[in-house]
Amino acid sequence: MKYQAIVFDLFGTLVDNFSLREHEAVLRQMAAVLSVPPEGFARMWGETFNKRATGAFRNTKDNTEYICQRLEVRPKDECLKLAVKIRVDFTRRSLKPRDDALETLTQLIQEGYIIGLISDCSSEVPLLWPDTPFAPLIHAVVFSCTVRLMKPDARIYRLACEQLGVKPQECLYVGDGSSHELTGASRVGMHAVLIRVPYEDTSDAHRINAEEWNGPTVSAVREVVGLLDGINHNGSI
Ligand SMILES: [Mg+2]
Repeated sequence: MKYQAIVFDLFGTLVDNFSLREHEAVLRQMAAVLSVPPEGFARMWGETFNKRATGAFRNTKDNTEYICQRLEVRPKDECLKLAVKIRVDFTRRSLKPRDDALETLTQLIQEGYIIGLISDCSSEVPLLWPDTPFAPLIHAVVFSCTVRLMKPDARIYRLACEQLGVKPQECLYVGDGSSHELTGASRVGMHAVLIRVPYEDTSDAHRINAEEWNGPTVSAVREVVGLLDGINHNGSI
């Protein structure tokens, strides 16, 4: 086999990207229970993404409290708890595997590949991860908020390789191109593949710094299996 490991992105790859409309509704609900102005809350939620994704806040409560302080509102503890619950429940709903994701991971494992994940995400994802059906199928997970690095920083890809016990050149990286992740993966020596599902409504998808890509592309997770078969047969993508 030309590759030993397949490293996946999470949002927009193994699960759908957040729906912008649903995300905005969730932020409005949080603002309502906190009695803060919804526009200010949504703006600051967006502005604190990098802090949230690099672990600057211990958890969702700290992030929410920080925004309330900046908006000069002091919510009651039960309101804060309810706002956090709204956010965590939203993330839980968002971690629903794409239709073909679990069967594809299972097949890749049966074919002898080891599986990694690199996700730019906030603290709810590692909190909820052990209860997702992905947990037993993915051998190494690297969450940006835990390692305090975001894609396309070379170190985040190298960390995944270390945990998987492989060299970057032995990895295929599959992602939807957010956070310039494909360029980052290629730069460290991984072989990057774009996933773009036909049903995604790009006007309603929450994608961070999506990049243009002229390299190999798949339109479903299951197509990774065929791509690998082709590579093993022909020697290149
Ligand atoms: Mg993504």
